[in-house]
Amino acid sequence: MIFHQIYPWLRKLREKSNTLKRVHTLLRETPVTCYLYNLLLHQRLVRFFPDKVIIDASTICNLRCPLCPTGTDRKDLTKGFLKFSKFKVLIDEISPHIRFIFLSNKGEIFLNPEIFKIIRYAKNKGMIVEADSNLNYLDKEMAEELVKSEMDYLNISIDGASQKVYSSYRKGGNFNTVIRNIKMINKAKEKYNLKRPSLIWQFIIFDHNKHQLKKVKILAKKLNMKFKVRPNWEYFHSMPKNKKFRLESGLTKNYYSNDSNDNRESLCSYLWYKPVINWNGNMLGCCIQIDENKNFGNVFEKGFFKVFYGKKMNSARKFVDDFLKDKKVHGPTDIPCAYCIKLRNMRNNPVK
Ligand code: SF4
Repeated sequence: MIFHQIYPWLRKLREKSNTLKRVHTLLRETPVTCYLYNLLLHQRLVRFFPDKVIIDASTICNLRCPLCPTGTDRKDLTKGFLKFSKFKVLIDEISPHIRFIFLSNKGEIFLNPEIFKIIRYAKNKGMIVEADSNLNYLDKEMAEELVKSEMDYLNISIDGASQKVYSSYRKGGNFNTVIRNIKMINKAKEKYNLKRPSLIWQFIIFDHNKHQLKKVKILAKKLNMKFKVRPNWEYFHSMPKNKKFRLESGLTKNYYSNDSNDNRESLCSYLWYKPVINWNGNMLGCCIQIDENKNFGNVFEKGFFKVFYGKKMNSARKFVDDFLKDKKVHGPTDIPCAYCIKLRNMRNNPVK
């Protein structure tokens, strides 16, 4: 509190004194001092380092999935490929402190011409690398490059066991091509006697594909893949109500309670534990936030830790916390959370 009162005065002094200017720059130079500085200044407790960083290697996609902002060509999210030169600087900054990097959010990673350079660099820096892919775009050479890059986990989105069911959501995708590409990766693994990447069959469950759940599990096993069910993006609007499928999917009961407060775990928690960055360096915060005009700052320009511990992200964390606790919040208008419908739904549907 006292610090807050003397801060404006200190700021004026800093503008006049070169020594104070230098101290200020030094304070914001390393993650540790950056963290302490912001804790003192904004008084929001953030875990020291996030668990992982999510950065989109591509916001361009070859499919047109109807619930995806890229597939539906939403204009508020800029489209492009992550540049290796920018990624390198980010990894140099974060790799001593953060172990996981996730390379996708709203696009197809294998369309990025520098993707293997990107993966290899993060791996050489000792990071665990994971991404999602629709795997419609791959050839033999790329499959071998992927295996040699030693990427750790690749989640392949396949929501069906036949072309008809698969393509009712994965518009423009080809089921047989995806299966062929999985086999190509498996062959490359055998050829180079390498185990990575571990392949995960990611099945987004909808009402239209629930009857194929058993079949895809068998197919995934045959292809030497792990299997994961995820709820669909549009907040469970067509989730199967039948208990049999609910049990078979392995999803917890909370996934079925509409926008419950508990989903904060998987949505707003991105602000604390797994911040999302667009390909151009703009910090978006969480995975559903796509309005780039309300980004939290550019990590390529300012540095990751300055943005992550920065004033704007801290005020978003405070806003979310206060809002969910039913406190009256007069939130800043430049943060995306102030406009988030999901957050309102979460407050209105607390976990019972
Ligand atoms: S309030 Fe909305 S925009 Fe903000 S972190 Fe939560 S889900 Fe994302």
